[in-house]
Amino acid sequence: MVVVGSYVVDLMSRTPHMPKPGETVLGGPFQMGPGGKGGNQAVAASRQGASVTMITKVGQDLFGEEAIKNFEQESIQTTYITKDEHEATGAALIAVDQHSENMIVVSLGACGNLTSEDVQQAREAFINADIILVQLETSIEAVEATINLANELGKPVVLNPAPFQDVRAEVLKKVTYITPNETEASLLTGITVHDEKTAKEAAINLFNAGIPNVIITLGKKGCYIYDGSDQGRLIEGFTVDAVDTTGAGDAFNGGFTTFIASGLSINEAAKRANAVAALSVTKVGTSPAMPTQKEVEHFLER
Ligand code: ADP
Repeated sequence: MVVVGSYVVDLMSRTPHMPKPGETVLGGPFQMGPGGKGGNQAVAASRQGASVTMITKVGQDLFGEEAIKNFEQESIQTTYITKDEHEATGAALIAVDQHSENMIVVSLGACGNLTSEDVQQAREAFINADIILVQLETSIEAVEATINLANELGKPVVLNPAPFQDVRAEVLKKVTYITPNETEASLLTGITVHDEKTAKEAAINLFNAGIPNVIITLGKKGCYIYDGSDQGRLIEGFTVDAVDTTGAGDAFNGGFTTFIASGLSINEAAKRANAVAALSVTKVGTSPAMPTQKEVEHFLER
């Protein structure tokens, strides 16, 4: 699998209250860890047994070195991670208060500068991949280059349209699977998605726009699938004690893409991806909260 997308370092401080403009608050524990939708999805996939090549850009700084070390520890291929000459490694500045409310500023830094050349340089990795996974947390230029190269080589491509950015209709048509959450599905279609019925309407809308497989994630409810083979269906989520739902979508996408590439049916892939994502919300953090293949198997055997 090739994953094209973002890497940012998550810098998280606990705070007794959110600072007001101009205020400095003495916070509680500080935690640092790998993040960014692209990186998180790559880790989720690798932990489910996929052989993953990551394509992103970091800065020529310590956070960039740390990123590459982290990916290597996760058995992710880093050959095509480039270093930007000007921009720093991306960072998310996260403050979490006593009520688990958060305030986040994300600076994409180097990974926002991914170019179509960066993608094309990884042609060899695309040729060797069974599937391609891309999000919208990088330049649209890199996203379009990814989808075009995947099409040229006849590789299936999963687009997780997060965070939402406008993508041209003719580009969307070239995608094999699209995996918006409720907010992104609403922004893509103009239909407010909040339940199974509205998910179905939005999914049919995207299917009619030329995307053959639409999977709308619905938080703890699970996900809704429409692939034209029937009236569409809800694949129910799993009930767990959620402690931190950030990264749930990333867990779902990494898992789903792995399972589709391994030959599972779309229903079975979505069910297992629901399990990966449910397990990820039982732990704090994004990449570090991704479950292993064993943990998912154990969970499904309960
Ligand atoms: P995002 O994290 O992108 O906003 P969702 O909230 O739709 O995406 O969550 C993605 C997937 O994560 C869902 O389809 C579901 O499988 C799982 N999930 C999310 N929240 C929970 C939860 N509270 N309990 C169990 N599973 C969850």
